[in-house]
Amino acid sequence: RSGAFFVSRGGCVPTAWAKLLRLSRQHRNLRGLMKKPALPTQIAIGMVIGVLVGAVLGESILVIKPIGDLFLRLIRMVVVPLVFSSLLVGTATVGDPKKLGRIGGRTMAYYLCTTAIAITIGLLIANIVQPGSGMDPIVQEQLLVDFGGGANDSVDSMRQRPSVTDTLLEIVPQNPIEALATANMLQIIFCAVLFGVALTLVPKPEHKAAVLGFFEGVSAAMIQLVHIVMLIAPIGVLALMAVAVGQFGLDVLRVLLLYAACVALGLIVHMTLVYTAAVKLFAKMSPRRFFAAIRPAQLVAFSTSSSSAALPVTMERVTKGLGVPEQISSFVLPLGATINMDGTALYQGVATVFIAQVYGIDLGLSGQLTIVLMATLASIGAAAVPGVGIITLAMVLDQLGLPLDGIALILGVDRILDMLRTATNITGDASAAVIVAAAEGQLGGGDQTSATDT
Ligand code: ASP
Repeated sequence: RSGAFFVSRGGCVPTAWAKLLRLSRQHRNLRGLMKKPALPTQIAIGMVIGVLVGAVLGESILVIKPIGDLFLRLIRMVVVPLVFSSLLVGTATVGDPKKLGRIGGRTMAYYLCTTAIAITIGLLIANIVQPGSGMDPIVQEQLLVDFGGGANDSVDSMRQRPSVTDTLLEIVPQNPIEALATANMLQIIFCAVLFGVALTLVPKPEHKAAVLGFFEGVSAAMIQLVHIVMLIAPIGVLALMAVAVGQFGLDVLRVLLLYAACVALGLIVHMTLVYTAAVKLFAKMSPRRFFAAIRPAQLVAFSTSSSSAALPVTMERVTKGLGVPEQISSFVLPLGATINMDGTALYQGVATVFIAQVYGIDLGLSGQLTIVLMATLASIGAAAVPGVGIITLAMVLDQLGLPLDGIALILGVDRILDMLRTATNITGDASAAVIVAAAEGQLGGGDQTSATDT
């Protein structure tokens, strides 16, 4: 604008000066264009390059697997100390057990409602599209032969699951160090909350301050560590994607395209309708802002297929990017990563109906309601690691009396759907944190320029 000003004044400034100004402006624009893109864009570029490289090179791309594994190990390294320290500090600073109970109640209510909605969306789509009707018997036979072994493994894991009482008892660790060492998330949550509550009851303020100060420092350092690890995320994600695509046979996607499309459609509908409406209605937050802030976490969840691996990034984004206080995010997010799996539940709805259709079994309304109940419970019981959805699917099929070898029919496309459902799972967790914070009147402005954005 200053150049135009000088030129418009006609002859009072020499033309050479105006030219110089124009040139410097162009140079600035060029530099702006060449600026390193923001981290989410870099990760997305890494992902696209990874897909292309994997598709072109196929299985030979497995040589770069250690790079992806390195990124995964680094990000997982942060999970346990971050969750334990931030949850302990969060609980101790909330102090009031009534408030803790209210946060817990709201979180659970939101998780259960969104999971039930997710399954219903999955069931609706599968019933309308009917992806399993009319499957070619030759294709069916071939899938059973190719993936029967994998299906048996999932069924075996399902059979070895502990009883409901044992599962509930297991939440209480006998040895907190063991809980931390084995990264047992529910045990860690239980222990950190009780430790935090107990700390508020310690009579000597100096004892309390010493412990709080220490764990506050640990939690802050872990967040810094997330920033450091995220610097290699574009390369790590590139490697993870390349390996996943390189190992993945595209042929199987062709025969299961309709089924995969139903799951993908359901997940997209759930993500765009349910979470958008929820953050807008309950937290008065612009959905655009919500999705922009959590994009790095979604990308990490997508490429690692693990909500718990993505947890440190989700926590950083929700706290720093969306202004949810640590008191709330440190409880809602680890709990969500473990028990709230909307994407997994939706996929189980579609998969169950698909398998029933292939075998020509009519589930009826009661069967479908059983799916809603079972898939909600199964997604709560599932661990946040890759491919676990398929094991819990075995539980749902077993309950309904559907043939368990039906799992072999869908195993071929599970890897790719796992990515999509994991990204949905963590989006649900993040939306819960925002909504619970808003309900508590504690939703801050958030720092839009946190280190993972730059
Ligand atoms: N991989 C998913 C998660 O970590 C679970 C699943 O659906 O398999 O959230």
